[in-house]
Amino acid sequence: MEKNNSTLHILRHSASHIMAQAVQNLFPQAKLAIGPAIDTGFYYDFDLTDGYAFTQEDLIKIEEEIHKILKENLTFECYRIPDVDAQIAEFKAQGEIYKAELLEEHKNDNPTLYLTKNKDGKVLFNDLCAGPHVPYSSYIKANAVKLLKVAGAYWRGNENNKMLQRIYATAFWNKEDLQNYLTFLEEAEKRDHRKLGTQLDLFSVREEVGGGLVLWHPNLAVVREEIENYWRTEHRKRGYVIVNTPHIAKSKLWDISGHSGHYRENMFFIQDEGEEYVLKPMNCPFHILIYQANRYSYRQLPLRMAELGTVYRNEKSGALSGLTRVKGFTQDDAHIFCTPEQLIDEINAIIDFVGDTLAIFGMPFEVELSTRPEKFVGEIANWNRAEAGLKEALDKRGMTYEINEGDGAFYGPKIDFKIKDAIGRTWQCATIQLDFNLPERFELKYQDKDGVLKTPVMLHRVIFGSMERFHGILIEHYAGAFPVWLAPVQAAVVPISNEKHADYAQEVYNRLRSAGIRVKLDDRSESMNYKIRELLQDKKIPYVLVAGDREIETNSIAVRVRGLGQAGVLGVEEFITGLTDEINSRSTQLAVRG
Ligand SMILES: [Zn+2]
Ligand SMILES: [Zn+2]
Repeated sequence: MEKNNSTLHILRHSASHIMAQAVQNLFPQAKLAIGPAIDTGFYYDFDLTDGYAFTQEDLIKIEEEIHKILKENLTFECYRIPDVDAQIAEFKAQGEIYKAELLEEHKNDNPTLYLTKNKDGKVLFNDLCAGPHVPYSSYIKANAVKLLKVAGAYWRGNENNKMLQRIYATAFWNKEDLQNYLTFLEEAEKRDHRKLGTQLDLFSVREEVGGGLVLWHPNLAVVREEIENYWRTEHRKRGYVIVNTPHIAKSKLWDISGHSGHYRENMFFIQDEGEEYVLKPMNCPFHILIYQANRYSYRQLPLRMAELGTVYRNEKSGALSGLTRVKGFTQDDAHIFCTPEQLIDEINAIIDFVGDTLAIFGMPFEVELSTRPEKFVGEIANWNRAEAGLKEALDKRGMTYEINEGDGAFYGPKIDFKIKDAIGRTWQCATIQLDFNLPERFELKYQDKDGVLKTPVMLHRVIFGSMERFHGILIEHYAGAFPVWLAPVQAAVVPISNEKHADYAQEVYNRLRSAGIRVKLDDRSESMNYKIRELLQDKKIPYVLVAGDREIETNSIAVRVRGLGQAGVLGVEEFITGLTDEINSRSTQLAVRG
């Protein structure tokens, strides 16, 4: 068996059996559920019947037990169950109710057990499983397996079932790969936007408001304001019109759009005097109504309509987290109404827009194209043309992309952009979605060259996706150390002595503030070094400007730069000019020096 990335899941799944064996050695009452490999490792679900919960110490003991088992160098052997009913009865007698339930379901699939045997051929453990596994436990290296954490998980993911205990763990082919992964996890933990959100006073989620409903504090609202300013300016430059639409609409609208049918469980309803309203889960129907307010000829198309539209979608509260899993969020939404002939140019323009925007944040991206599913609406000729057009647009730029055959929505093919952050994690953000359905449902028309009324094509498009989620990604991407154009505070002024230098520090502060720089004056009675360290390291402010006798004499400031420290002395005007350039160019480097 080859030891590479594509066989890693076999190693990991095999390790999950060894973990289950270790758990049952130490906790004989533990009943086994399932133990699959996942992208980052593997897990196993256990039912500790007496309500006992695994502790951190238990994880250490289980890991030691795994090491002990691995020393025995076991073989993994597949064993076809000869008498399924007898085996079910045996599982039941052993209290293994989950295995019994699974076996009952797979009765007719030639079910197998996997036995782990020692060198004398003695069976030490068995588990219901279809495999595949590594042939010998020696493939699993004791120093390349790590138990990570415990979490609750419902049997079969159903909240009506019993809550089991899931141990998350990981395994690699060798120690180095495991070490690299653990370092990555540590880095990801340091960047966790929920933790930084508190440390940097960026946002909060309160129980009184509800899970998944975000309070943007001034510090993060500033970041959003800068991004929204960029967003509006760029949309104007690229020929979009910007609109605003209400937060609620009558159910009738969602009946026409079809959302009441297939999207109902995600929608919030409001009753008012016998009329039912819906808190909007999407902006599309409103934009369509705005299109309907005018008549269009082919010459007036495309119509590109954008809105920072706040939508609400009912997510299970268990899935809600920080800024990345929310119930209420603002989409940077746009809908483009065009003729079929204009479609490819429009798609190209959007890909440019996405690429230009992500370049500002230094985020590379990958592209996936999802094509026509079995059940679809619209003309097959339009689908073929659209898919060919999407491919052509991607090919022309030499973009590599994956095709998810048959994975498009029933109403149209789509392109998904997956961005890579600073530590290599991918996040789904921008999408371009064609829609052959809504223009039909709302009977949209335009007058073509030949005078005939025809149905336009509609594109749904987001670049950031949701503002909440994108800001969560940005916080983690920058580890809270925003480039100067986004930094909530761009510079802080610190007098060396509050008695002697406070007036001058105040003067510097005033000059920066008048120049439009987000500046803070730190005249607390703490020591200067303490303040500088806190401002640069804890608060992650890009520039700290120190003012003392020498600086007063020469009308200057001593510059300290985040991540660098002392960077010389600079005239106040020179600093303002340098910083303003850096802000206006949206530079990601802190380059102003004395
Ligand atoms: Zn297995
Ligand atoms: Zn839409």
